[in-house]
This record gives sequence, structure tokens and C-alpha cells, in this order.
Amino acid sequence: MAAKRNARAKKSAKTAGKAPARFKFDKSIGAQIIRYGKFVVDRGYIHNSLGNIAIRVACDGHPHGVAYTKHSGVSLEEMTMDNVVVTDIPTGKLIYGNVPTSVGHKLNREIFRLRPDVNAVIHVHHDETIAFLASKAFKEIKAVSLEYPYVMAKPAFIVPSHLDVEMDVDPLKDFVQGTNSLVMVRHGMTCFGRNVSEAYHRLNTLTSEVRRNLLIEQICALKKTKGEYLSQKDIDWMYGYAEDVIYPNKQ
Ligand SMILES: [Zn+2]
Repeated sequence: MAAKRNARAKKSAKTAGKAPARFKFDKSIGAQIIRYGKFVVDRGYIHNSLGNIAIRVACDGHPHGVAYTKHSGVSLEEMTMDNVVVTDIPTGKLIYGNVPTSVGHKLNREIFRLRPDVNAVIHVHHDETIAFLASKAFKEIKAVSLEYPYVMAKPAFIVPSHLDVEMDVDPLKDFVQGTNSLVMVRHGMTCFGRNVSEAYHRLNTLTSEVRRNLLIEQICALKKTKGEYLSQKDIDWMYGYAEDVIYPNKQ
């Protein structure tokens, strides 16, 4: 027993004061950011350096894991593996790479910190959503398709326009548990999921539902009819079965 204790003491004396082991960059995570980055570019969601993807990966010495993302100053369209950086989650400190992240990464990190179930975040400035809400004719995105409640699993949260949750992430704690997508007026949207594929599917489903809302309202205005949306009762029931419908093999 004493010998064991001595060996342990020797070991900790040996490692004391040493720099932590060098961080090992995982190229496969960088490749996922580049791959899904091209997907959102192909869908017309990216116009400049201001859309982004962040993926959380477990890492020794970082209880929240670490976040892989694109650094500032380059777009998802232009980026290569050289533009992938890694940060700590609570502090934002760069663990890999030299170029800092954009201000929006603060929001990604706070989502990761508050939602241990979320491992991927996608943020884009989506044209139709910005236009739809800026029209002032509509205050919410209504569910019309059956896929919308199942894929989103939780209602989209429209962030009040007086809040800038990228600059000040503090209000996030009040609503981030109840949603998988934040819609920011005059700005864009952030969708999240357990992996990058789930975040991407939610992003596409939300943008589709916005386009459907726009189409319904345009046709209804022309034809003088009233759009038929899902009832709140149906939506709530569907949220409860989201997992069974989207991931039937996991049951
Ligand atoms: Zn943005």
C-alpha cells in the first residue's frame, strides 16, 4: 500500500509543472465543418464570412469538451482545413490555431455550455426569414407541414429584437432549454442538434417552413382565403413523438 502511494507521489512529482500534453487536432472534425459548410453554401445561405458551424468534441482537461469552428475573416464558402480552429468552451481561449473566432462564437459556446445534449451548432443569415419577420406582418413562424414539429422537436424561439444574444449571451439561459433553434430578427438563425447532421436537418426544415409560410400567406392574400396551419394541440403531440418518427431504429 505504502509502495503504491510512493509510486503515485513520484509520478505526480514528475508531471508537476509540466505543460499539458499537446492538443491533438482531429482532421475528421474539421472535414465535417468543411462538408456541411459546402452544403449550406449550396443552399444559398452564406453570403460572407458571417455564417458558421461549431462542433463540440470531448477532450481531456476540458469538462465541457472543446469547440471546433471556422475562424473569423473567411467564409464557409472559401474556407479550407487551414481555417479550422479549436477553442475552449467556457472561456473561448484558442487551443488550436492562431486566428480568433468571430463574435458569434460566443453564442455557440454558451449553447454548448448550457445544453450538454447539443454537440453541433449552425448559424446562417437566411434571406426569407429576415424578410418575413421584417415585414412586420408576422410575429411567428407557424407550423404547417407534418415534418416541421417532428424534425425540430421543440418550437423555434424568436429572440426579441432588443436582445443581441451574440454580444450578450446572458439572457440565453432563460430560453435555450426549450428550443433547438433561435431566430434573430434582422439577423438570422442558429439551429442545434446532437450532431452536425441533426443541426443541419433542423436548419433546412426551419428555412423550408419559413418559405412555406411566405407562400401560403402570398397565395391567401391573392385568393382572399385563410391559411390552414397545424393546431397547437397537434404540434405538442408531435413534439412528443419526434424521436420515434425521426430515429425509429433507436427505439
Ligand atoms: Zn450572424
